[in-house]
Amino acid sequence: MNPIQRIRRLLGGGDDEPPYRCVHCGTGFERDYHDCPTCGNPYVKPTDESE
Ligand SMILES: [Zn+2]
Repeated sequence: MNPIQRIRRLLGGGDDEPPYRCVHCGTGFERDYHDCPTCGNPYVKPTDESE
């Protein structure tokens, strides 16, 4: 868990973007998964990585 991301999320309130997303199937998640629970592939990444 990135602490900056966690703080931004706590302060952000209305942010509807999930903190993690599977780049394989596109499902958003509230926490980091080693393997995507939806498709089973290890492609869950932080959504704000590009900022
Ligand atoms: Zn997936």
